[in-house]
Amino acid sequence: MAEIPEELRNIARGWQRSHLLDLESLSREEILQLLDLADTFKQLTDNCTRKLNLLPGSTCANLFFENSTRTRTSFSLAARRLGADTIDFSRSGSSLSKGESFIDTAKNIEAMKVAAVIVRHGTPGTPQLLAQNLRCPVINAGDGPHEHPTQGLLDILTIRERLGRIEGLTVALVGDIAHSRTARSNLWGLKKLGAHVILCGPATLVSPRWRELDVEISHNLDEVIPRCDVLNLLRIQFERQEQPPFPSVREYALLYAMNKERLARAKEEILVLAPGPINRGVEVTPDVADGDHSAILNQVTNGLAVRMAALWLLCGHAA
Ligand code: ASP
Repeated sequence: MAEIPEELRNIARGWQRSHLLDLESLSREEILQLLDLADTFKQLTDNCTRKLNLLPGSTCANLFFENSTRTRTSFSLAARRLGADTIDFSRSGSSLSKGESFIDTAKNIEAMKVAAVIVRHGTPGTPQLLAQNLRCPVINAGDGPHEHPTQGLLDILTIRERLGRIEGLTVALVGDIAHSRTARSNLWGLKKLGAHVILCGPATLVSPRWRELDVEISHNLDEVIPRCDVLNLLRIQFERQEQPPFPSVREYALLYAMNKERLARAKEEILVLAPGPINRGVEVTPDVADGDHSAILNQVTNGLAVRMAALWLLCGHAA
């Protein structure tokens, strides 16, 4: 096993938590610890291209009960960059279809001596349930519309990297706030670090009750764009809705798609983010998604750094 680099050890000092379930319950200091670690992992691994053998012989289990491209691959690669092995569990073909309970399945996987369980599930609270029933660290990789903490962290890391700070920035989360776990994790993280958060989208997807959390609500993207430093464009989560929230996707795109006309009215330094998958032409047009203001692919690289940081912090930092 490689020596733990001094700079990682220093940042991790004082970390107490066994699990990473959400950003709502983390303190500002804990969020900064995770961001600083991710930054340091990027530096120590040449932008996440090299291995740092800090978890050799450990195995991380991916328990994914919802579809995923980026998150599952990113967690697996992050574990391997740390020298750990990974196993992938999916519902189809498992004993869940023979009547085994979810917790029994998870306990059996834990009994194979895995170092951490990374779980994605359509039901909010599933990672908390596992954390109460397992001894190993649990990481939430998205629980229904509730939270997706590593997505929130990688978005915030990308903003800090590109704009140099979070405090005092105006960040608009645009689109399907009602069903987006990315929106919730961003909201908690950004507010704790001192950003002004605007939730913007159709009235059917952005409730005025969010004002209770001290955020600004808007249904008019054109009105908010000139004030924003960052726009995070969220996908419409049709899979979580019984009724379409607007008459047609064309109307949504007309009012909320980030395109070059809207970009021309934004601040010169505007940063455009999207958690992916992006629907080109719906929440963002291809010229903006692939243009100079977009950090969409940087977010993906930063996801690797954030997940290396989280896995090492929960599984290895006390070694
Ligand atoms: N990939 C993100 C998530 O799993 C965003 C999305 O699906 O739209 O929440």
